[in-house]
Amino acid sequence: MNIAKKTYGFALVEKKKVAEINSMARLFRHDSGAELLHIENDDDNKVFAITFRTPPENSKGIPHILEHSVLCGSRKYPIKEPFVELLKGSFKTFLNAMTFADKTMYPVASTNEKDFVNLMDVYLDAVFHPNIYEQPEILMQEGWHHELNKKEDEISIKGVVYNEMQGAFSSPEQILFRNIQRSLFPDHVYGFESGGDPDEIPNLSYEEFIDFHKRFYHPSNSRIFVYGDGSIEDRLKFIHKEYLEEFSESEIDSDIPLVKPWDKPDEIEKYYPISANEDEKEKTYLSMNFVTGESNNLELSMAMGMLDYILMESPAAPLKKALLESRLGKDVFGSYNNHLRQPFFSIIVKNSESERKTEFSELLYSTLEKIIKNGIDKKLIKAAINIIEFHLREADFGSYPKGLVYCMEVMNSWNYNGNPIQALEYETSLKKIKSALTTNYFEKLIDKYLMNNAHRNLLVLSPE
Ligand SMILES: [Zn+2]
Repeated sequence: MNIAKKTYGFALVEKKKVAEINSMARLFRHDSGAELLHIENDDDNKVFAITFRTPPENSKGIPHILEHSVLCGSRKYPIKEPFVELLKGSFKTFLNAMTFADKTMYPVASTNEKDFVNLMDVYLDAVFHPNIYEQPEILMQEGWHHELNKKEDEISIKGVVYNEMQGAFSSPEQILFRNIQRSLFPDHVYGFESGGDPDEIPNLSYEEFIDFHKRFYHPSNSRIFVYGDGSIEDRLKFIHKEYLEEFSESEIDSDIPLVKPWDKPDEIEKYYPISANEDEKEKTYLSMNFVTGESNNLELSMAMGMLDYILMESPAAPLKKALLESRLGKDVFGSYNNHLRQPFFSIIVKNSESERKTEFSELLYSTLEKIIKNGIDKKLIKAAINIIEFHLREADFGSYPKGLVYCMEVMNSWNYNGNPIQALEYETSLKKIKSALTTNYFEKLIDKYLMNNAHRNLLVLSPE
């Protein structure tokens, strides 16, 4: 399909065939400041997503409450629950909204053209023209409000997100990961809880809530992803005529800064609640956590994912084995989170005791040292590469539409002003990583990002 250099306010910035996903990628910039990435191929499982950069400035949960609230009726769809109504009989293959640490994403997918356009319309109307301006009660319902059912009862706080986050804050593992992220990124956007801390949510005012929408839900702060078959021209025309045309470009300060790098590791102790009659024995989490580069480094992201498999997930994983054999805890696992501008890697022991933290740290480092010295079993490296390569080539992501997975990958770079097309071109990176089959590629990675990385901490999470 040939697209003119400028179509319906969209200027073509880059056009490139992406062999890895057998698609034609086109990056546009609209007069409103919106960027749009179109991925053209013959996949009928079409995907649309609009994502806003939403850096939290506190832990009152504004990004999350807004995500819920814009879906409670809008200019064209003034009914209270448009989705429940409109989705009856929809051919959707995916429909959700997600609040990340620094962005909010509204993706839909459908195999039916008419349905797809309809869903796009509902979502665009929701984000740009939500009823929250005319109906303050939406914030009360979705965020928080006081509730008193009987005169003799105590006043309680209720709200969809408030209740949801109370649930989230009662799971020890979720508390662990929240604390890891907060502690690695002090005085930074990532030090706040974008989902909302139940203690902080009731401090949120209607004015602050509206102000956040005014500032960040503007085309100039949005990245639009369109994937699959169908006419590009129709998509551009629809998005322009129905929505973007009425906006002019605006300067929005939402850049996600890099955290100030540490010059020495840290140690920190945190607590999670257990009930008074519960035993505190063997309920502590020991974790070693590392900030590892930037997420727009595709090769590093892929390699760190494989390293997690090599060290902690495979049945033959040497670090996992050493930690389990030491009986420091009953279970161990690794984790690599790359949905942040700066991903972090964690090694965790479950069901342990806080007194054993030094033993944990010493064993971890002596084992890594041994792994570097003796080299990783090449069979293990091959298995790790094969698993990732299989996923990349088959693009089989379970219930997730392919296009949505590509959208998430693209955002890992695009959200930080990186090139979204390059985020899909994994072949060169994969080739470089495959050198590991004959070199000490992963050993060097361990040395740089785990052994000699000052931006790390030992975080102990104990029951209380
Ligand atoms: Zn939610």
